[in-house]
Amino acid sequence: MIAPGCQFASDNTAGICPEAWEAMAEANQGFHSSYGDDPFTRKACDQLRDLFETDCDVYFVFTGTAANALALASLCQSYHSVIAHQAAHVETDECGAPEFFSNGSKILLASGEAGKCDVVDVQRLITQRKDLHYPKPKVLSVSQSTEFGTIYQPSELQTLWDGVKGHCVHLHMDGARFANAVASLDASPADITWRSGVEVLCFGGTKMGMAMTEAVVFFNKSLSEDFSWRCKQAGQLNSKMRFASAQWHRLLENGLWLKHARHANELAQSLARGLQAIAGVQLLHEVQANAVFAKLTPEVETRLREAGWKFYQFIGGGARFMCSWKTTQADVDALLADAAGFSV
Ligand SMILES: *Cc1c(COP(=O)(O)O)cnc(C)c1O
Repeated sequence: MIAPGCQFASDNTAGICPEAWEAMAEANQGFHSSYGDDPFTRKACDQLRDLFETDCDVYFVFTGTAANALALASLCQSYHSVIAHQAAHVETDECGAPEFFSNGSKILLASGEAGKCDVVDVQRLITQRKDLHYPKPKVLSVSQSTEFGTIYQPSELQTLWDGVKGHCVHLHMDGARFANAVASLDASPADITWRSGVEVLCFGGTKMGMAMTEAVVFFNKSLSEDFSWRCKQAGQLNSKMRFASAQWHRLLENGLWLKHARHANELAQSLARGLQAIAGVQLLHEVQANAVFAKLTPEVETRLREAGWKFYQFIGGGARFMCSWKTTQADVDALLADAAGFSV
């Protein structure tokens, strides 16, 4: 019997995956140089260069908010602006950190279906004003996977890139759930990043099962000049960096990161199928990664909460269920059995 709880509230309610935990224990032997000058960090950075098939610059920070805010700050002057979807994490969930670290770069909000920026609206934001009273658009930030659990197909990224590249606008990717996107697309990480115009990727470690680490990957190395200083000033230079990089080293070996992401995606599919079969329940977005957004009946929603299930409520009455490396089929079945029972 699975006890209802917060297993579907967020991918962050899961703990640290056993491999990452073991990697930290291994890094805990002996003494090593601090601030990233250690063999674990060198190896993890090389593995990321191999994974992306290019000579990129890699930095490790503690949170996704720091990764996004510092990456965007390195692409913008204070009088520039960043275009992002109106539901983007950088706009809705970072407490103004991108604006703060860039000393005031404004976020301009693009519309678009299913959490994805619409290229026509992006171009409108770029071209509607050229005068110096308007913050000059300098970056397009896209989330992959999106805040609604949807995914930009490679062709959609290419369309966005084609739409902005003539305007000196950089492409930033918030990849807090990049692993889920790669697992779902079965595309090469290089194809859906730098080969599609992405110059900086914030690659999430925490949501895929690591502890307190995100990688900032610069494919355009001219943009990472002084990034180490930016990290240090923001309190994001990890003195015992080996405990972050050892986790990356371990999960990047033998595709473990993708195995965990695939598992989370598959359980989201299973949950979606089960919810769809319940009378009155409606999926709100196509399930392409590890999130399921559903409109439950008021009865089912209330009784699930009363039974102890925790999940976030989204605008329009939707409920969000997240799956992670730790979610099991039994968790999914227990939630579905309750939801089905409460619907009759
Ligand atoms: C979770 C998340 C982040 C990072 O959030 P932190 O809580 O700062 O680690 C960034 N972007 C998206 C889309 C996220 O879901």
